[in-house]
Amino acid sequence: MTMIDDTHDPALTSWVPGADGHADFPIQNLPYGIFSVGGDTPRPAVAIGDKLLDLSAISGLLPVEVTGSTLNALFAIAPERRTALRRKLSELLSAGHHSAALAAHLHDIAAVTMHLPAAIGDYTDFYVGIHHANNIGRQFRPDNPLLPNYKYVPIGYHGRASSIRPSGVPLIRPKGQRKPPEADAPLFGPSARLDYELELAVWIGRGNDLGEPIPIDEAADHIAGFCLLNDWSARDFQAWEYQPLGPFLAKNFHSTISPWVVAAEALAPFRTAQPPRPEGDPRPLDYLWDEADQRGGALAIDLEVHLLTAKMRAAGMTPHRLSQGPAANMYWTVAQMVTHHSSNGCNLHPGDLLGTGTISAPTEDGFGSLMELSRGGSQPVKLPGGEERSFLSDGDEVILRAQARAEGYAPIGFGDCRAVVLPAR
Ligand code: MN
Repeated sequence: MTMIDDTHDPALTSWVPGADGHADFPIQNLPYGIFSVGGDTPRPAVAIGDKLLDLSAISGLLPVEVTGSTLNALFAIAPERRTALRRKLSELLSAGHHSAALAAHLHDIAAVTMHLPAAIGDYTDFYVGIHHANNIGRQFRPDNPLLPNYKYVPIGYHGRASSIRPSGVPLIRPKGQRKPPEADAPLFGPSARLDYELELAVWIGRGNDLGEPIPIDEAADHIAGFCLLNDWSARDFQAWEYQPLGPFLAKNFHSTISPWVVAAEALAPFRTAQPPRPEGDPRPLDYLWDEADQRGGALAIDLEVHLLTAKMRAAGMTPHRLSQGPAANMYWTVAQMVTHHSSNGCNLHPGDLLGTGTISAPTEDGFGSLMELSRGGSQPVKLPGGEERSFLSDGDEVILRAQARAEGYAPIGFGDCRAVVLPAR
């Protein structure tokens, strides 16, 4: 597991203007991404304040080769080597080390194009947000919200990697089959119940060979970093299609991720104990149980969802916060997700992406989807400016944000995960 070192010192400052105290990317964060400028070749960078440093231009200064148009190779190296890279970047960007040569390779993040950080081989979405599972389960199965497997199995399904896009790429409202309760037969057409899902996602680092499970006490070494994930969902398609095999076209039309990879190393100060299970819940089976993971396998990250409608945008209004809550509302740790995924011998690859599933708080100010906030569409959410939403309208922009916070450390954020809904085609 990653350790706290000098790179996390809250007193550390940077020579890059505006980086100190930056809500997302102070020098204590140093997230990795892939960018391009004016249509040139995508290449790796590290974010610092509102700027990024082009790592391809300074590769001679770094202890690890960081080149190419994806971060898959960086994810694949041993965690100790990524820690060495982080220490070097922290040193190069810290106050007192200013150099005109380095400054020449800074770009304004607002002026570049951010790409997917890795070639995503496989995408798996879990369902570890227990309050979300309860809320949604109650709508589909009022008498039986949590199925008996939930507290034993980190439930997941295989998603679709091809339709994952970085923040800023609009999504097109999907068409599909839905069957209104009063109809005799299903209709085909644009989703009438388009929703977002607030999730964290894990970037897999080193993989495992087929047939070689990742033990729970080694799982953290296979996690390269984290991003935000909006797992857009067509609730009407989902209700009609999900039995007996689970999610399919309700989920695979588009997923949005924040383009910066917050490295596992950066999150060392924000590791916290997994909240104890409620009295009467079963202890995880032995292959998912590790004392160190229980002591430090959860993350002190605060998650938020904001909505900006077309009307609000036209009126110059700021996005409205729909919810806020802690990532601690996960019933399983990310290490348990990784270990369970590989427990049958399934091989994970560097750059695979694992979504946590929607993370909701127990109370409605922290519900992570409109399906929950609007009680399945029966109680529309009121917005400033007089509009209401049960589900998303064309022109709506959903913005996910997150910040890791811990007493005595500089908070670090993830950057925006946002996209606008375009009309169906
Ligand atoms: Mn999901």
